[in-house]
Amino acid sequence: MHGSDTMSQALLQTYIDSETQAILDKCTTCGKCVEACPMLPYGNLQGADPERVVSGILDILRGGQGHDEARRWAQVCTASGSCIPACPEGINPRKMLNFAKHTLKSRDRLQQPAGDTYFKRMAQSIRLLAGTQMMPEQFRRLTGLSTDQKPRADVIFYLGCNVLRTPHIVFNVMDILEAMEVDYEVLGGVNNCCGIVHFRTQGDLEGGDRIENHTLRRFAEFHPQTVLTWCPSCQLHLGETTAGVAELPYAMEHVTQFLADRLDILKARFVKAVPKRVALHEHNGIAGVNDNVRKLLTAIPGLELVDIDQLPELGYTCGGGSLGLVQLAQQDVHEHLLESAKAAGVDMIALVYHGCHRVLCDAQGRYPFEVKNFTSVLAEALGLEPHEDLFQRYKLHQDVSKIIADAEPFIRANGMDPKGVAAALTDPALWV
Ligand code: SF4
Ligand code: SF4
Repeated sequence: MHGSDTMSQALLQTYIDSETQAILDKCTTCGKCVEACPMLPYGNLQGADPERVVSGILDILRGGQGHDEARRWAQVCTASGSCIPACPEGINPRKMLNFAKHTLKSRDRLQQPAGDTYFKRMAQSIRLLAGTQMMPEQFRRLTGLSTDQKPRADVIFYLGCNVLRTPHIVFNVMDILEAMEVDYEVLGGVNNCCGIVHFRTQGDLEGGDRIENHTLRRFAEFHPQTVLTWCPSCQLHLGETTAGVAELPYAMEHVTQFLADRLDILKARFVKAVPKRVALHEHNGIAGVNDNVRKLLTAIPGLELVDIDQLPELGYTCGGGSLGLVQLAQQDVHEHLLESAKAAGVDMIALVYHGCHRVLCDAQGRYPFEVKNFTSVLAEALGLEPHEDLFQRYKLHQDVSKIIADAEPFIRANGMDPKGVAAALTDPALWV
C-alpha cells in the first residue's frame, strides 16, 4: 500500500468512527426510523418492537452482535431513504444502516476465501456485456483510456461501473451534452468505481477507500467545475455515505439535475414531437431525480406524461444495491408498475436508471407498450438518432445464437472468443 493510500484509509476510518459515534451519541432509540421503513414486511418485522430493532443496530455499531431482528432489518434495507425525514434527532438512519451493513459484511469477510469477490464477478459481467455492444475505441473512451481524452473539462460525466452493460444510455447522454455544447469528458468503468461495492457489499474498507480515492483523483486531474453522477449508487456513496471525508474542489450533482436546470437550452433545441402517452418509472431515494425527469419529459412537444399508481418508496433503484437485494419487493414494484401502466393504456414506460433498465426492458415483449430509457426519448426530441438499445434487443432474443450473430462485429473487434462468450451469455444473472 502506498503512503498516501494508508493516510486516506486512516481518514476514512476516522470519518466513519466519528460519524458512528455521533449517531450513538444522538440516537434516543425512539424507533421512528423503523416505523417509517416500508421494508418491514419483507423482513417479517411488522410485529417487531421498533426500539428494540434500533437498539440492535446500535449494538452492531458498537462492535456487538446485535440480534436477529436488527440483522434482518439491515438485510432488507434497500436504502430507500424513507426513514430520513422521520428522525427527530437529525440522524440520517439510512447512513446508520449503511454503516451497520458495512460492519456486518466486514465480519463476514474474515470467514470468506479471498479472490472470488462480488466485485470481480461484476467486472467480468460488465466486460462481457460491454464487449458485445461497443467497439474497443468506444470502451477506451468511456473508461478514460483513450489517447484522445481532453486534459481538462468543465464537466465530468461520471458513469460508475454498471451502466456500461447498457451503453446506449451513456451514448445518448453524451450526444445530449454535445448538442448542448457542454465542455465535458466522460469517465467510468470498474477502474473508476466509486467504491460502494467494496465498502457496502464486501465490507472492505481498504479496497473501497483505495478505489474511491483513485476515482476522485481522476476527477481532479480534469480540473472540472462539476462532476455529474449517473449511477444512483455512486450518488449515494460519494454524496452521502462517505461525503465529508474530503473537501472536493468541484460540485457534484446528478446528471438529471444538470439537464433540468438547463431546460431552456434543451427546449430551444427540440425539433421533433414525440406524440406518446408516457409513464415514468419512479424511485424515491435520490433527491430530485423524479422531478427532474418529469420536468424534462413534460417539456417534450407532443408528449403526455401519465401519472400511474406505483411503489416508488420501496428502493432507490431496481438494481442490485437496492431492490435487487430483496426479490419479493422487486417483484411487487414491477407487478404494480406494469399492471398500472397497462390499465392506463400508455404507449411507453420511461426508465431512468440502468439497474431498472436491465430488469424491466424485456417487459416490452410481454406488455402492450414500449420500454425505453428517458434519454432515448430526449435524444429523439432533440433530433438526434437515439442509440439502439442492444441490451434490450439481446434480452428479447432469448436465444444465445441470435445474440452472437448480432454481436459478431463487436466480439470480433474486441478479440473475444465467440464460444466463450456464448457460454457466458447463458448465465441468467447477466441479464438482471
Ligand atoms: S433506508 Fe429505507 S429501507 Fe433502509 S431503513 Fe431507511 S426506510 Fe428502511
Ligand atoms: S429515528 Fe433517529 S433517534 Fe429515533 S431511533 Fe431512529 S435514528 Fe435513533
